[in-house]
Parts: sequence; C-alpha cells; structure tokens
Amino acid sequence: MVTGSMHLLEADGRKILLDCGLNQGKRKEARQRNDSFPFDIHNIAAVIISHAHIDHCGNLPTLINRGYRGPIYCTPATKDLLAIMLVDSAKIQEEDTEELNSTRAQGTPPLQPLYTRRDVFKVLEQCVSLDFHVMTSLTNSTEFQFIEAGHILGSGMVELRFRTPEKINTLTFTGDLGRRELPLLRPTAPIPPSQLLVCESTYGNQIHESIHNTVQKLYETVRKTIERGGKVFIPAFSLGRTQIMIYYLQKGIETKQIPEIPIYVDSPLAAEIAHVYRKHQHLLNPEVVSSFIQDHTFVTDDWVRYVREFDESQYLSRSPDPKIVIASSGMCDAGRIVHYLKEHLDDPRSTVILVSYQAPGTTGRKLLEKSPTIRFQNRTWNKWIEVVHLDGFSGHADQADFVAYLKPLVGKIEHIRLIHGERTQAVALASVLKNMGFPDVQIPEPGDAMVLA
Ligand SMILES: [Zn+2]
Repeated sequence: MVTGSMHLLEADGRKILLDCGLNQGKRKEARQRNDSFPFDIHNIAAVIISHAHIDHCGNLPTLINRGYRGPIYCTPATKDLLAIMLVDSAKIQEEDTEELNSTRAQGTPPLQPLYTRRDVFKVLEQCVSLDFHVMTSLTNSTEFQFIEAGHILGSGMVELRFRTPEKINTLTFTGDLGRRELPLLRPTAPIPPSQLLVCESTYGNQIHESIHNTVQKLYETVRKTIERGGKVFIPAFSLGRTQIMIYYLQKGIETKQIPEIPIYVDSPLAAEIAHVYRKHQHLLNPEVVSSFIQDHTFVTDDWVRYVREFDESQYLSRSPDPKIVIASSGMCDAGRIVHYLKEHLDDPRSTVILVSYQAPGTTGRKLLEKSPTIRFQNRTWNKWIEVVHLDGFSGHADQADFVAYLKPLVGKIEHIRLIHGERTQAVALASVLKNMGFPDVQIPEPGDAMVLA
C-alpha cells in the first residue's frame, strides 16, 4: 500500500522488519491497522528503516509501546530526522485523540492516543545509526548495508545478503527512490544486482514534468504575482518538498529570475529539519553545498526566514508586504497555511502554488477544481486567488527513472516485487519491466510471502 510500508523477513529462524510505516488512510480503518501488527512482536530480532517519511517510520512508537526492545537500524541523518518527525506525529496523535474524546458521549471511556512522545523517546534510544555502505551482521548468516536512495536526506535502499552452505541469497529493498533530475541530494546510487528486488512503484505509470520547465513556471508565477502587488503561498510538506522549494526560490533570487523579496518558511518543523540538513551537508550534492549552503545556509539569511512563533505567523498573514510563504500542510487542510488562506482566498492579486499531489476531498483539490467559490473552515469563500498547480517537483522516481535505474540489471535480477504503489501505477510499471526482459515481476497483496532459495 502507499502508506504503512512494512515488510517481514525471516532468516535463520529470526525475523527482521523492513520499515514500520504509519497507515494514513481513513481514520478508523487506519487506527485499526496501526494498532495491531500482523505478527508476533516478540519474535522480531531487528528493524531496518529506509527513511524518515512517516509512511515508512511513523508506526515505530507503537512497536515500542507493544514491547519491541531490539535495535532499529537507520542512517545517522534518518535518526536525526526521526527525532523531529516522530515527535510531531505523536503530537498529532495526542491532539487528535483529545479532540475525539471531547465529542464522545458522557460515560464512554476516553480513547487513548496510538502513541505519545514518551514512546518516541524510547524509539530514539533503540536507534542504531549506520553510515551508507557499512556491512552489518543481523544474524549468523545475514548481513545488510544502506545504499544511497536519493529520495530525501539520509534515505537508503537496503541490500541484504543471506548465506547458506551452498550460496549467498540476496535481496534489495528500494524504500523510496529519488529522481535523476533533482540536484539537491547526492544522486541515487546504482541498484545492486540481487535475486529479489522489492521495488517501490508510487509513480510507476507517470512521467513527471521536467524540473527545468517546472522551475520556469514557478519563476514566471512569482514574477507575475509580485508585479500585480500580490503574495505567493506555497503549501508544502515540511520534509523534502519544503527544502526543494527553498533551494529553487533562493536560486531564482540569486540569478535575478525573481525579485528580491523575503521568503518565509512558516513551520517550526521545517526550521528543525533545516538544522539536520546543515549537520549532514555531506549528503547533499557538492555543487549545491558550495553555492548555497555555505554562503546563505538553509537556516537564516537575507531572504529566507524561518517563522516559529504563532503570533509572528498571524502577523505575517495580515501584513501587506510582498512575500513568498512556504507553510504546511501540503494539502491545505491543517497547519499554518490555513490562516494565510483565510486572509487571501478572495484576494485576486495573490497566488497559491500547489507543488504536490492533492488527494480528493482535500482543500488543495477543491482549490484546483473549477468553481467560483470554495467551502473552507465552515464558510463559503469567493475563490478569487490564482491557483497554479506545479506537479514537477516530486522527489519520487517516475517511470523513466525506474527504467533508467533498472536497465543495467536485466539478467541480473531474478524476481521483482512491486510494492508501495496504487494498483494502476504498479500494473503499468510491471508491464514495462516485463517488456524490458525481467522474467518475474509481480504485485503482491498484503500478507503474501515469497521464499528465496
Ligand atoms: Zn518517502
């Protein structure tokens, strides 16, 4: 499934968990899935986490809460990001539960949050950070290493080797893969040849618009909006997309393709993430580091300002000066972007630039739909703000990326299992890979198993 990434391996009679993601579907169903693991936790010998997006790591605190006491392996940058992302996730769990309890009938027992910040601290105590390309033993016959996935800071593929008396069996788990075109991170490393490749397929049926075109559209939109006296609002997820937007906006000012106006990153979470980016600069593309990080840093400079205080955020949403504001959430239903929209939905001079996928039913999707008004925060507003959708900033591999990454491996991978994609995306990618010459490409259902021999 696209959220709640989780895979179970068994070797030497010991069980290893690959990723422990949070299911983020409909509230009740998601709660049920997150609450009960489809295996006995006490048999798990180790957990390996590919990267710090919540759909890959967000259920770790539940695992700890239910009694898991073994190691959680991840890269050092992932560990630092886990500390930020999981605390934020716990806060959301706690607030959500409080809200649900306030509306429950009197006399019904209060619900407990899925997990709390206390569980997160235990997760961090159990994290063991490993650099890329450091082979580490899991059991007598099993070892693994992280390989650069190029998707977000610290993201890794996991290459596993299982020794038998006769031979070595190999498995690679891609986690989420990055794009070839995005310059912020070090590029995705070659996928190692292996018997079984467990490969993501999020955008297996899509070709993203080129970064070059997308950036040109971004600059043009910013110029037009500022010329007519408006402001630019960019709803974005705090980890991944926000850093890409900061990079291109800074670059636009540097190269004089957009005017010198302040860029506000209105997100305490993004401010903390910026520190992690600085700390792990060696994981960024060296060219980016030399031209942007050292001079201007991701933290504070002439143009980019991180807003932590709520009062300042409120003030900014009402001040008339030209500005660009990046704020979460990416689909406009929560977070600080909400009060900017309240002030500007009916301002025809301003623009909201949507830089990621907008799920049906979200405010972001309603902004995209052609209608003169929009229902938002229990009110109907005139939708006079300009809405621009730029979907070329994705940090995920698209079909062309998958083909490029996998082409050198025809004849070197026996089995491919496509995971982490909606059915249409996985089916399309499967047929492309079969045509390329991979003999066994399948899309497993939840609970399916496969024996490597
Ligand atoms: Zn991801």
